[in-house]
Amino acid sequence: MTKNVLMAVLFHETHTFLQQKTGMDQFRQNGINIGDEILKNNIGNGSPTDGFLDYAEAKNWNVIPTIQMAASPSGMVDDEAIEYFKRHFFDVLISEYENIDSIYLVLHGAMVSEAIDDVEGDLLFEIDDFLMGKKLNIPVVAVIDLHANVSKKMTDHSACLFSYQKNPHSDARDAAINAAKLLDQLMDDAKVSQIHLGSSYVIPPTGQATANDPLKSTLARAREIEKADPDILCINVMGGYAYADIADCGFSLNCTARGDTRKAHGYLEELLQIFESHLDQAYPLEASLETVLSDIDQTKSGPGPILLIEPSDNIGGGTPGDGTGILEPLLVSGRKNIVAIINDPEAATICHDHALGDTVELMIGAKTDAHHGKPVKFKGTIEHLSDGKFILEDKNSHLASMVGNNIEMGLCAVVKNERATILLSSHKTPPMDLGQLHSQNIMPEQAELVIIKAAVSHKDAYDPIARTSYYVDSPGLCSSNLKRFPYKKLKNKKISLN
Ligand SMILES: [Zn+2]
Repeated sequence: MTKNVLMAVLFHETHTFLQQKTGMDQFRQNGINIGDEILKNNIGNGSPTDGFLDYAEAKNWNVIPTIQMAASPSGMVDDEAIEYFKRHFFDVLISEYENIDSIYLVLHGAMVSEAIDDVEGDLLFEIDDFLMGKKLNIPVVAVIDLHANVSKKMTDHSACLFSYQKNPHSDARDAAINAAKLLDQLMDDAKVSQIHLGSSYVIPPTGQATANDPLKSTLARAREIEKADPDILCINVMGGYAYADIADCGFSLNCTARGDTRKAHGYLEELLQIFESHLDQAYPLEASLETVLSDIDQTKSGPGPILLIEPSDNIGGGTPGDGTGILEPLLVSGRKNIVAIINDPEAATICHDHALGDTVELMIGAKTDAHHGKPVKFKGTIEHLSDGKFILEDKNSHLASMVGNNIEMGLCAVVKNERATILLSSHKTPPMDLGQLHSQNIMPEQAELVIIKAAVSHKDAYDPIARTSYYVDSPGLCSSNLKRFPYKKLKNKKISLN
C-alpha cells in the first residue's frame, strides 16, 4: 500500500554573536517553497531534499510537501520566520494527520531564534505533542547537519535523527537517503529508542574535519558498532556549532537503537572516551600572517597556489565574507598574484556602472560590522562583470548540502591590479566549489596566494589544487579562538585545551 509521508525543510545555522538578525528576507533570498513548489524546485538539484524525494519516488511514497525554508548561516533568526514556518507546517498537518504514515524533516539542527534557543527541539516537541493528542503513533525522522547542536529534547521527541558523517559534507544527499531508509523501516516497526549523550566540549569548526581526529576515530568506531550490532540503527557523532550561546552548544552523541538502551548508552560512553583521547587535536591554533609569510619565504616555490585560510571570516559559519583581516596586510606586504573573494554588493554595483576595462578606485570590504577589519582602498581594472550565477563543478560539494547545485552570487565584478585579482560578490557565497572562481574567469590554480574564507568546507575543492595551506589568525566572529567570545549560557563547558 502506498505510504503517505508528510515532509518539511527548515534549515539554518544560527550565529548568535552576529549583530544582524536573519529575517524573512534572508529566507526569501534562497526561495521559500510552499507545497508542490518543494518538489518542483528540488528534484535533481543535488540537495538533501532531492535525495529524499528521489528515494520517496523509488518507494512510490505519496509525499505531502508542507513548507521549505532555508537561509545561509547568519545571525539570530527573527521569531516571525519561525512562526511563518509553523503556521504553514501545522496547517497541513492538521488537515492531513488522519492520512499520514510518517513525517520526514530536513533540518540543520543549530537554529536559534530570538525567543527559542533550541528551535528544532521546540518544533519536534510540538509535532510530538500534536500527534500524541491525536493518539497517533507514527515515526518522525529528520536528517541533520554534522554541526547540529543536538539537545535531549530533539532526541526525546523524534523517532530517529540521522546526521551527515562527513565534513566537508559531501555525503549530505546520501545521508538524507539513509534517513529515508530508516524511516521506511520505522513505518513497519517503530519500536525504537533514541539515546542522547551530551558533552562538556565546544570545539571550533577548524577542529571538526572528519579526515582528522578527534572526529575521525570517533566516527570510525561508530561505523564499526553499527556494523557489528543489529540493534543499533544509527549512531550520530555531532561536531556541534560553536558560535551559538545556548546551553546545548557543542559536541554530542546520539543513537537510535532497538532493545536494551543500557547497551546503547555504553556505546556512546565508549565513543565519548575515544573523542576525549584525541582532544589535543580539537582546538587547532592559527598563526599570525607575519609568521606564515616568513615561513612561505623560507620554503621552496612550486606548482599550485598557497592557501591562506581565514576561519575568522568563515562564510559557511555565518560571518559576512567581507573581512579584510588578511587581504589588507597582504596587499601592504607587497605580495603579488593574490586571489581573494570579498562579498561587497556596493563595490560590485559601482563596477557594474562602469564598462569592462575601466579603471576604478574602490573601498573594498569590512562594511557589515566592526569585527572584520577595515575597508581596503583598491585601484584596478574591471576584468569581468556578471550576474554571478554558476553551477557547481562538484555535485557533492558541501555547498550542495546547503542550497543545491545552482548558485547565485548576485551581481559580480572582478577587479585586478599588479598585486591581486579580487572577485566582488553581492550574495555571500562560501568557497566550497571551484566553479565560483572559474565561472568568473579566475583560475586559482595559477595564483600564488589564495585567501579562503572557510574552516573545513573548502577542502574538497581547494586542497587538490593547492601546494600547501596555512590557517591564519585574523579578526572576525568565526575565530577558532573561542575564548574571544562572550558566552553567557555555556555551563561548565570546555572551549579551549587549557
Ligand atoms: Zn555543517
